[in-house]
Amino acid sequence: AQERYASLRDLPATGTCGTRIALQMNAGLMADLPSLAGSGAEGVGLFRTELQFLIRSQMPKRLELSALYARVMAAAGGKRVAFRTLDIGSDKVLPYMKPNDEPNPAMGWRALRVGLDKPGILRMQLQALVRAAQGAPLTVMFPFVTLEAEFSIARAELDKVLDRECKLGNPVPSKLEVGAMLETPSLAYAPDSFFRAVDFISVGGNDLKQFFYAADRENERVRRRYDMLNGSFLTFLSQVVARCETAGTPLSFCGEDAGRPLEALVLAAIGFRSLSMRPASVGPVKHLIRQVNLIEAGKAVATALASGEQDIREMMNAWLVDNH
Ligand code: PEP
Ligand code: MG
Repeated sequence: AQERYASLRDLPATGTCGTRIALQMNAGLMADLPSLAGSGAEGVGLFRTELQFLIRSQMPKRLELSALYARVMAAAGGKRVAFRTLDIGSDKVLPYMKPNDEPNPAMGWRALRVGLDKPGILRMQLQALVRAAQGAPLTVMFPFVTLEAEFSIARAELDKVLDRECKLGNPVPSKLEVGAMLETPSLAYAPDSFFRAVDFISVGGNDLKQFFYAADRENERVRRRYDMLNGSFLTFLSQVVARCETAGTPLSFCGEDAGRPLEALVLAAIGFRSLSMRPASVGPVKHLIRQVNLIEAGKAVATALASGEQDIREMMNAWLVDNH
């Protein structure tokens, strides 16, 4: 199987209908970057910047961070890297930050919420990213955006950083993409202005599923009850796809489910055109997508959802047997 995937490395993930799906990889450390060439991923759809904070014993300095990000960009060799700003709190506690005693850390002071309350850290990281880009294109995404206003404030912080760099005579990125991660159901109901304001949306399926089903992603006992390929969740995701299509907002999915071939196929079938996954999943996902007519798969899923079918996993497995 490994050889079969290797032979697909330089081929696109295109269904038999001609629909092309961009497959990207998730990363978080320098050590992950060699997989970019090895896996055939088109870019890094999610770079979890907090990992580099978590392996340190003290808060990294801006200079150090900027050197680190420059190395990541160089290692990516011009491929797009979506740098997600710090997603700490919840399960990711920095050893040098006072731990919060919160009864529900996953729903607590985490991710962008920390960045907005402590703008110094957010600004420092944004400035490190802008400096690392040295005038080249830069992609930034904010984690755990819950309301439109949170995105607007974070985006304004970035604009302030850019202004300052300009005044200092430092180069600013030739192209800037600023996106939001959709990880809470609330964001799917943000006003149209939000969908137009973001350059892209990336669904963080791990957290989104946790909050959609109210089932702790760390708790095996409850987590296993709820399937991504459930009709209710897919109906919800289809609504997100529709809103992005209306607004012309590029949409991708970067939770772990994107790396499971059947899940990836269904995401492509309902309209996702970009998926980001662990590098080892790129081959298997591409292998399946290349054998399937995604338009027909999309019709099959839509018909099943319209008829009230809940078990889309079973439905899709049967559809694959009948159609291949
Ligand atoms: C997610 O929530 O799906 C996600 C990609 O982010 P993380 O797993 O780092 O929370
Ligand atoms: Mg998340």
